[in-house]
Amino acid sequence: MRVYHLLRPGQLELELVNKPVPASGELLARVSVALTCGTDLKTFERGHPRLKVPGLLGHEWAGVVESVGDGVRSYRPGDRIVATPTAPCGDCAFCLRQRENLCLHLFEQMAIGAYGDYVLVPRHIVNRNAYKIPTAVSDLQAAFLEPLACVVHGSDLVCLGGDRTVVLIGDGPIALLFLQVARLRGADRVVLLGRHAARLELARELGADVALAAGEVQVRAAVTALSDGLGADTVVECVGRPEAWEQAIGLVRKGGEVLLFGGCERGSRVSLDTERLHYEEIALKGGFHYTPDSVRRAWDLICSGVLSLDPLITGRMSLNELPAALDRLRRREALKLAIVP
Ligand SMILES: [Zn+2]
Ligand SMILES: [Zn+2]
Repeated sequence: MRVYHLLRPGQLELELVNKPVPASGELLARVSVALTCGTDLKTFERGHPRLKVPGLLGHEWAGVVESVGDGVRSYRPGDRIVATPTAPCGDCAFCLRQRENLCLHLFEQMAIGAYGDYVLVPRHIVNRNAYKIPTAVSDLQAAFLEPLACVVHGSDLVCLGGDRTVVLIGDGPIALLFLQVARLRGADRVVLLGRHAARLELARELGADVALAAGEVQVRAAVTALSDGLGADTVVECVGRPEAWEQAIGLVRKGGEVLLFGGCERGSRVSLDTERLHYEEIALKGGFHYTPDSVRRAWDLICSGVLSLDPLITGRMSLNELPAALDRLRRREALKLAIVP
């Protein structure tokens, strides 16, 4: 089988390796489609604080069960399947505190390598974070499970619904998913800040009341106008750059909350106005990863068909074209690309 191996940042090789044989509790899936993700590009360019390099890439995928190990009863060869790349151990100090997204063992054994022909799904993921795909759901839609689970988890950390002005910073796939989830949760007013005219147009089609180029003077004016002069009730940062984190904190009203969702480069620092944080009681929250519960609710959303996922896919490319696909992401010519082996 073919699989891409990231040997070191910037060096990606398509290798031929033996097809793995699933051990007890595991299963092997043939990849039907893998989606590119901003995390892949970051990992390719500079490594990643949580992922192994050298290692495999590709964590958003859907496929077909090829073979199952002993004791796997819920899946059979031929079943269409989707799984997230991780699942919590259920047993560590963080799992026991219901913070399964912070499990100490999340990244030890992953279902990763979807930029390849097959993915081996370990037992704990088969048991907790895998689903059979119903006929009404396409592989492409199913492959959104992981990013959407992250967004559902993030959406639980702040209040998005009701009489609120929600500002989303970013015009990538994550911001466009947050936009749709905020709408489903009943957010009255949603503003999305981005850089690309076409993406801002898409954001309007997907339900943003206002979609503006970030960094412009009009941003503050627009947020002020929509919020009776107060500022945003909730700001969600979906970029992963210190400037965007600072902008997020600058746009929130007194007593408002900021979800810092985009992971910045390791070692990044931001500067905070202590007066705003203290005297204006601003709540800052980090949001990371997902739990089995947010995965299940993300899966229900995908299966219910209420989300517009297809517009987030810019095009399809073959496995051989992965380096070119990452290049298109780097140049921000694509939201997400579907890699079809
Ligand atoms: Zn992802
Ligand atoms: Zn754990």
